[in-house]
Order: sequence, then C-alpha cells, then structure tokens
Amino acid sequence: MKNSDLQIEHQCPQCGAPATLLESDRLFSCAYCRVKSYLLTHGVTQYHLPHKAPGDKEVFYFPYWRFKGMLFSCLPKGPEGHFIDTSHQALPSQRFPVSLGLRTQTLTLSMVTDQTPGYFIAPQTPLGDAMAIFSRRFVRDLPQPLLHQAHIGETVSMIYAPYYLEDGLVDGVLNQRLHENDQSPWQPEDFPGGAPGTRFAFIPNLCPQCGWDLEGARDAVVMACRNCRSLWQPKQAGFSTVPCAHSPAAFPDPVYLPFWRIKADIKGVALVSYADLVRLANLPKALQAPWEDSPFCFWVPAFKVRPRVFLRLLRIVSAALPPKDLAQHFPEDTCLAANLPVIEAAEALRSCLAGLIKPLERMSELLPHIVIKPRRARLVYLPFEDGRHELVSRALNLAVNKNQLSLAWNL
Ligand SMILES: [Zn+2]
Ligand SMILES: [Zn+2]
Repeated sequence: MKNSDLQIEHQCPQCGAPATLLESDRLFSCAYCRVKSYLLTHGVTQYHLPHKAPGDKEVFYFPYWRFKGMLFSCLPKGPEGHFIDTSHQALPSQRFPVSLGLRTQTLTLSMVTDQTPGYFIAPQTPLGDAMAIFSRRFVRDLPQPLLHQAHIGETVSMIYAPYYLEDGLVDGVLNQRLHENDQSPWQPEDFPGGAPGTRFAFIPNLCPQCGWDLEGARDAVVMACRNCRSLWQPKQAGFSTVPCAHSPAAFPDPVYLPFWRIKADIKGVALVSYADLVRLANLPKALQAPWEDSPFCFWVPAFKVRPRVFLRLLRIVSAALPPKDLAQHFPEDTCLAANLPVIEAAEALRSCLAGLIKPLERMSELLPHIVIKPRRARLVYLPFEDGRHELVSRALNLAVNKNQLSLAWNL
C-alpha cells in the first residue's frame, strides 16, 4: 500500500543541516549534530509545494486545505469508519484547480516560514466549511439517515501551490499553462494576502521536571521521561504533564497499549455507572451490585489504527469491566506509542455510544438527543500478551492483529 504521509524538507534548528521529515513526525533527531528537538505547531501547519519557475518570474501561492484522517459516520445500523485523504481550495476561485489531486503524495513539501519568498494568497474558507465539503463527498455513498459524523485522528494542514503569470496563469510545479475561462486581466494581489508567517517552533526535547531526555516514537504526541517517570504532551508554550496509569500485567513480557480513559458528563440517557452501561448495551452479564457505584468511562485507543479496528477496540474496551488496582505511573515494559492526542480521542465518544447502545432502533432514537461533555482524561496502559501474530488480552477477551498496528496509518 502506498505511503500517503507527506515528505517535508527542512533544516535542523540547531546546525542547519538538511533533513526530510514526515508530516506526522514530531520528534526530530538530527543525523549530523545528534540534537533532538520536538516540533511544536501553532494552529494549522503550513506547507508549500516546490516550484520550478524560471528565475525572473514572481511566484505566488494559492492555499488548499488538506485533510487526512478517519471519518466516522453513525448510521442506523451502527457506526462506520472510513479513511480519507483529500484537499480542497481554501478560497473559492474558478481560476485555480479545485484540489491538489495526488501531488501531495508525489512531491516533497517544505514548511512555510516568514523567510519563504513569494506572495501568499490568504485562505478565506473556514476549516469547518472545508470539513463539511470533505464529509459531503463521502456521505453521498452512505445509506441515510446519518445520525452523526466525526473526524478523528486527523492531520489538517494548509498547503500552498505555486503559480506565476505569463500571458495567463502558469502552474509553477510543472511550468504548465492553465486553461482559464475568465480572460479578464488580473494580478495575484487582487486577492488578499501577503508575506507568510512561521507557525511552528522546535523546542528542546527535555523533561520540564528533571531535564532528562524525553523518549518517544517519531510521531508520538505523548513523550516519556524514564528518569522521573512522567509523561508529557505538547501545549502552546511547551510540554505539559499527562496523568497516566497502567494495569500491571499478571504474565511475563507484556506489551502495553495506551488508551485515553475519558470521564464525561452525559445528558439525554442514563449513563453514569458501569451498571447503566450493562443495561444500555444489553450486555449478557448478570448485574452485580458494586457496578452501580463503578463510574462509566470511555476507553478510546490513544494510537492511530485502521478505522474498523479503532471502532472495535473503542467498543470492546469501553464495554469491559474497568480494570482494578491501577498503578499510577506508566509501565516499564514495551509500550505502543501514543500518537492520537486526547483532543482527537474526545471526538470519538458519540461514535462509541452509537456502537454500544442496543437494540439499534433504540440507538437511532436516543443518539440525536445525547449530549456528551468530556471532563477528565487519563492515559491508561493495558497489558497484552505478545503472541506471534497477535496481541492478546484474556481479561478483555480481545486479540489485535500486530500487522494492523504497525501498518496503522498509511493506508
Ligand atoms: Zn543538526
Ligand atoms: Zn523527568
């Protein structure tokens, strides 16, 4: 399967050596000076496509929204997940192509900084409108009615495509004239825009508490300090602490999978305790008295995985009796990297209920009236036995194919 992660050209923030990053990369380790930095983005990351325009041409850039992630649609027969990777004009204009097509997959992009030369036409379409366009493209093929839709695990970026004028509009990637219906003369400056700004920063990859090097996979959104055993996630100004826990394994050499355990206020349906869930989901279990006092929490995978697997894990782990006796720190053993931020995980809660409430007619009836407000989240690592092809949890009666984890995101 093709790799649809964007290739990004960049320089090491420490020594200036050239480097190629993947779009999902957060931890950057320079091959020359060995310094490790963490990429912090402010708002939507901006990239531009490379151009081959002759040196005397004034290149300008046209903006596109680009979305890659899972689209969950809650249908009367339950939730469905699709993977989408698409782009669309960030301001409506007949002069420019409506989308980038496959270019983002075949070209190496660069990050836009305040040093990037050229006139940058400013985006006008709000992200919400662009997402609505992306969703509509997919909804057409789905059975109706649609009860709810959510975008999860998303990478949203702004990609600028280069153009210049030479007896009309020329595509700066291929140096090809574009056909224009509107022949009236115009200038790029007719569109609002200007010089771009820098919307990212590399910060030292060090534990804010003890100064130790933080550890994580290249796309991790949660970084670990093995020295003071704390977890950290990027925030506006730097790293902030992540509450965590793990369920100690009763078997040797476990592999831990991270889940966001989210406690939420739920209105429109009685769902406060685990006993409420057993009733709501019609689980084939004999109700036990202590369950009435055991709070219900959502358990959302904190890692990116195929939409179908994600929904399955979300449903099974949320419906399982919550593990007792959690250790309030992260485990020493092998852990799968958490690469799905909690804010994304919180988008999955309604899809989770759509998969749990039984019978389905009752779900269709209830779902539109349910209001969910996430209150607290903790990253909880659950142990799995490391089988040849599968990770297995007897407690959850659950097996996850290892291929599905490693292939995760580049579908
Ligand atoms: Zn370097
Ligand atoms: Zn530390």
